Amino acid sequence: MDLLDLTIKELHDGFKKKQFTSVQVTKAYLEQIKKTDGKIGAYLAITEKLALEQAEAADKIISSGKDFSLLCGVPCSIKDAILVEGEKATAGSKILENYVAPYDATVIVRLKKQGAVILGKNNLDEFAMGVSTENSAYKVTKNPHDLTRVAGGSSGGSAAAVAAKEAAYSIGSDTGGSIRLPASFCGVVGLNPTYGAVSRYGLISMASSLDQIGPMAKTVEDARIIFEAISGKDPFDATSVDYKLEAKSYKLEGLRIGVPKEYFAKGIDPKVEKIIKDAIKKAKDAGAKIIPISLPMTQYAIACYYIIVPSEVSSNLARFDGIKYGHSNQSGNNLLDVYLKSRGEGFGREPKRRILIGTYALSSGYYDAYYKKAQEVKKLIGQDFVKAFKKVDVIFSPVSPIPAFKIGEKKDDPLAMYLMDVYTCPVKLAGVPALSLPAGKIGDLPVGLQIIGNHFEESKILSIAAEMEKLF
Ligand code: GLN
Repeated sequence: MDLLDLTIKELHDGFKKKQFTSVQVTKAYLEQIKKTDGKIGAYLAITEKLALEQAEAADKIISSGKDFSLLCGVPCSIKDAILVEGEKATAGSKILENYVAPYDATVIVRLKKQGAVILGKNNLDEFAMGVSTENSAYKVTKNPHDLTRVAGGSSGGSAAAVAAKEAAYSIGSDTGGSIRLPASFCGVVGLNPTYGAVSRYGLISMASSLDQIGPMAKTVEDARIIFEAISGKDPFDATSVDYKLEAKSYKLEGLRIGVPKEYFAKGIDPKVEKIIKDAIKKAKDAGAKIIPISLPMTQYAIACYYIIVPSEVSSNLARFDGIKYGHSNQSGNNLLDVYLKSRGEGFGREPKRRILIGTYALSSGYYDAYYKKAQEVKKLIGQDFVKAFKKVDVIFSPVSPIPAFKIGEKKDDPLAMYLMDVYTCPVKLAGVPALSLPAGKIGDLPVGLQIIGNHFEESKILSIAAEMEKLF
């Protein structure tokens, strides 16, 4: 038995039956990280001391004979934009190189309460801006299935860690696709929850009206367990809602699956299209009704997203001024010099680009034409989904038009990077949940099926994903 292959439930059962301890499993993961992460680069920091302390504490709970939670003793990793008290949180940026988190994010509080073991912090695109982790100030995470290719982003380190067996599961965040895209590229399950389902408290903000934390896991069942543990109302995040995952399960038989024609238009790799169409056929053979639908506003999603996000970025990143947080260059003559030098040295190209675009879009005289307009378009995109969910239960689509691309291939072409979000960012503008499920491979490269549900219907998409997982 390879401990690194076990799912959360299998680990739980093994702990119960005293087949192995959490310390043993944790050490196996730490060894695997030491052995393989040199070539993958999924981690920015390994929190070995914390992990071993937590594993020992978990073993005490387990051996006490009392009931213990499913996540107790199970080793995980955390995207480095999420705060773990006493550990560095860089958000992949030089400006936060030496920033140590003064408190735990709410998701971390909840995981710790369950007895989780935290192995380390995962690489990401700087402040979660990107699709490839090439925008990290520290290193590029490689795809475990092909080391010449990207792992996806921005939660690329999290996805690669799970795929390379360097964590039993990981916690990522998704603003426009950052959980689902790397999950698709690395062949793991990634869930972007409904906006408000999971507290954002302690997540370093990129675009607050879209950011959501979610699980990245080996299986759909694992994703469900993690989601249940981290979701629900939090007094520290006013946008979080009182929400419990519905216990009901759903079947493919009789299910109405919408297939949006706009998601199979020009630009999709025919091999990706084939894998997704085959998946749809499998669902049909299992008794689902396939219903062609249209989401006509899809064509405006990228333009809309790339106004709203930079606008919020320009505002959120204003706090990194060389005074309160992180990197500070005080060699100049006055306060303005401190701001300019600290920010100039601390931020990479992509945050700078977005700060410039966002500041412009929010400035007096342009606000109505850009930011306000984008908010109106966002509403229309949301209405596309509202209408669709009157006719269908879930929507099936690709996660991305192409599989993992070569490292460096799009590095100097921001627009080509932005276009990678074409199937994932409309979901965010609508605020609905969606999951990426490994559906097949092109050679060595995994391809994810996106299963989209209506607001707070995580239970439905998780059920259906579990059914599809069996068929694959
Ligand atoms: N690729 C998108 C962006 O760069 C999404 C990133 C994310 O979801 N954090 O904004």
